[in-house]
Amino acid sequence: MKSNRKFCWALRVVAAAVAGAGASSAMAADPPEWSEPVTPFRIAGNIHYVGTRGLSAYLITSEQGAILLDATVAQNAALIERNIESLGVKLRDVRWLISDHAHADHVGAMAQIQRDTGARVLASAGDQWALEHGQNEGDNNYGVQPFAPINVDAVVSDGQVLRLGETELTAHLTPGHTRGCTSWSMTVNDRGTPRKVLFLCSITVAGNTLVANRAYPGIAEDFQTTFAKLATMQADIVLTSHPGAADVLERGAQLRRGNADAFVDPSALPALVAESRVNFEAALAKAKERAELP
Ligand SMILES: [Zn+2]
Repeated sequence: MKSNRKFCWALRVVAAAVAGAGASSAMAADPPEWSEPVTPFRIAGNIHYVGTRGLSAYLITSEQGAILLDATVAQNAALIERNIESLGVKLRDVRWLISDHAHADHVGAMAQIQRDTGARVLASAGDQWALEHGQNEGDNNYGVQPFAPINVDAVVSDGQVLRLGETELTAHLTPGHTRGCTSWSMTVNDRGTPRKVLFLCSITVAGNTLVANRAYPGIAEDFQTTFAKLATMQADIVLTSHPGAADVLERGAQLRRGNADAFVDPSALPALVAESRVNFEAALAKAKERAELP
């Protein structure tokens, strides 16, 4: 596992602080790799990478149309759409838009892509408010990060399955990073071998207030429930919303160099969960200490 993972907001907040930037110039502080083009590629079976160097977007194709998981930042809408079309998928054939969580770096371009594709948006009840109001929800140390509001067409609950053609995507509510953080699982046919794939929602603290969070009072308990839940799950392939968290682009490069099993790594999920859990517990202990100060 790499130690220089780039997680939601942490980098942007640092960059904004260095630049002395206010909210209005926060966009200028986006890490450049968030909009750096990457040639789309097939990960396994019908799952394709259509994101950028620093932000993932996954296209799941089927004979009944496609599902786009995550849209990245607003200024990337045209780039993501070109990536989809470069795979031979027409924009009007994108049927569903889903996301892992309602933060601007993952859903900023979704409203535009929704207009251009006519796709329906499916989201968890926990993230619906944030999506429809175009802003992150919950107290944090980076403030409100607005994005174009997204109309949620249907709400998905824990364990519900989104079916499109042969594809069956199961929603797993894994709240904490946001109230409606949703991981998605599916089984893919990887050259004749069935592989369990988990699109893991972010499990980092990333500036969230863990103690006395007025807008999201149960946040710490949700994180703990999510870590316990993920610890019982198994995945052959883990895909994350920041590609660096699961070495998605490095594995893609290995795949092109001939390592057909570059994405197959059952140790990835437990390693990510264990590392994030330790970081969360440390952040929670610190937050409690601060809360007890006179
Ligand atoms: Zn996030």
